[in-house]
Amino acid sequence: MIFLTYIIFFFAGLIIGSFLNVCIYRIPRKQSIIFPPSSCPACGRRLKPIHMLPVLSFILLGGRCAYCKKRISAMYLVVELVTGVLYSLLYCRFGIGFLFLKYILLFSILIVICFIDIEKQNIPDEMVVAGLLVGIIFSFLDRQNFWNYFYGALIGSGILLLIVILSKGGMGGGDVKLMAEIGFFLGWQNTILTLFSSFILGGMFAFVLLITRKKSMKDSLAFAPFLGIGALVAVFCGHYVFLYYSK
Ligand SMILES: [Zn+2]
Repeated sequence: MIFLTYIIFFFAGLIIGSFLNVCIYRIPRKQSIIFPPSSCPACGRRLKPIHMLPVLSFILLGGRCAYCKKRISAMYLVVELVTGVLYSLLYCRFGIGFLFLKYILLFSILIVICFIDIEKQNIPDEMVVAGLLVGIIFSFLDRQNFWNYFYGALIGSGILLLIVILSKGGMGGGDVKLMAEIGFFLGWQNTILTLFSSFILGGMFAFVLLITRKKSMKDSLAFAPFLGIGALVAVFCGHYVFLYYSK
């Protein structure tokens, strides 16, 4: 029975992931995420429901548009699968409740922001503001911990702002705002763990890109995905890390 619930949340994640794909494509292009219905980005033909089944349509159509046969980015598939796996894992870790609802909202917003940052090297303000509002609402709902969340937002964005100033623009202002949002969702301890994990992961990734000469010191690197993975580490491991250090 429990296993069946994991499957249900996995499929729910796939369907939401399919909607997140619409957001990732349309928000940077300033298009409505509701209307018009989905169409092929290459030929503009409107997609039928059979073409929009998460994962399945991509596989059945061989990763190509049903009409013009243009290749569809594998990113769509990745977004759906990541959302499905995440929903299932969050259910496994938290069960259905306040934290589950809070974290599926956080990570759905983060998936959109991270993939837009990867594609466009830009974090859309409207998504960060939406996330910030949701984070503030959740911190009010968890009233006795409100200041914990508030300090999370303050410390998270404060540290990144300091880096922006010291590095003279080596990091974007979007990351500062994003960290305020993450801080409001996670509280100060997990915010510090998020930053710590993202710096280590981002640093290692940049090092690999530099030694394999895929990028030079002058190139920029989208940092939102590392903040997203850092938040994931904090949500899943934060409890154990702080338990270990408080012994
Ligand atoms: Zn097409």
